[in-house]
Amino acid sequence: MIPYGRQDISNDDIDSVVQVLKSDWLTQGPIVPKFETQIANAVGSNNAVAVNSATSALHIACLALGLAPGDILWTSPNTFVASANCAIYCGAKVDFVDIDPLTYNLSLDKLKEKLENAEKTNTLPKILIPVHFAGQSCEMKEIHSLSQKYGFKIIEDASHAIGGSYLGHSVGSCLYSDITVFSFHPVKIITTGEGGVAVTNHLDLADKMRRFRSHGITREFQEMTHEADGPWYYQQLELGFNYRMTDIHASLGLSQLSSLKKNIFRRNQLALQYSENFKDLPIQVQLIGRNIISSYHLYVIRVCSKDRLQIFKRLTRSGIGVNVHYIPVHLQPFYKSRGFSNGDFPEAEKYYKEAISLPLHPTLTTDQQLLIIDQLKQIFR
Ligand SMILES: *Cc1c(COP(=O)(O)O)cnc(C)c1O
Repeated sequence: MIPYGRQDISNDDIDSVVQVLKSDWLTQGPIVPKFETQIANAVGSNNAVAVNSATSALHIACLALGLAPGDILWTSPNTFVASANCAIYCGAKVDFVDIDPLTYNLSLDKLKEKLENAEKTNTLPKILIPVHFAGQSCEMKEIHSLSQKYGFKIIEDASHAIGGSYLGHSVGSCLYSDITVFSFHPVKIITTGEGGVAVTNHLDLADKMRRFRSHGITREFQEMTHEADGPWYYQQLELGFNYRMTDIHASLGLSQLSSLKKNIFRRNQLALQYSENFKDLPIQVQLIGRNIISSYHLYVIRVCSKDRLQIFKRLTRSGIGVNVHYIPVHLQPFYKSRGFSNGDFPEAEKYYKEAISLPLHPTLTTDQQLLIIDQLKQIFR
């Protein structure tokens, strides 16, 4: 079976991990800070806080921005559940902004309209999480100016989008947001096994996230409530978690980072090849904005909804590991039990009925891709 996504592990990656296993520290050693510095450099932000998953990163990002019971967080329904769950962890409420039918990111028009209404009813969000679906950045400049007007904070869920760019700036530069989060799960662009990172240009937010990652504990004397009892002393200032990344994981990430550019180039090459071959087929491909370079975590096609299941099954039967991203979050039983229902976000629901993710990853060979294209041409013949 050709998988829809897959990690690409080199011998250098393996050597990098083995080195840590032979070293003095498996966790809380020198490699995590080194990885953080290199991530910050690669994406153009001032601070990076590495954690054990993007889900944890989203959680501590929300906490650092003060999300609490009574607050509201908005995100896209076309995402993995973690983009919404982070609000529930903080006791806040979640609502969604419907998607654009061409980019599959949250719709700017729907966002404007929803903000206008929310202002009247006093239900404005404290935080908005735009999700850079499939690796394409949302229209951050416009979203940022709306955040200035309505006073909300922005966390970019860039789990799909490391290595991509928007208006000539790397995703993660946080020019138009408070915090950006990346995932290092094996199906994502680069991996640490499990892992994630939150980047920000605000040192105070980075410091807060560092504390939340490790039990709310500080060893910085200037952060303590009174003079330290001695050099061993630490204080727990708030309730945190153990969301730390290990040096073993970070060493894999550090090595993977060196292949990021090559990885994104290959993904774009494969995506272009798909798109050119689908021009004459009844297939809709994702519209990519003019000033955007997608990192192409996913390659999604939209087909007629009544044929989707059959096409999906035929591709699977031919050994092509297709998938569907995403089941709209508000239609999950957990969110339905919180008051959402079918029809709430019609564009995301329509999109879901038509979407198929085709295999796309740097280890996908040209021959494998030709086979996939050929299968689709046969299906539509
Ligand atoms: C994968 C993913 C996450 C969660 O990432 P983990 O590292 O697995 O916790 C969050 N948001 C989106 C959009 C994702 O694709």
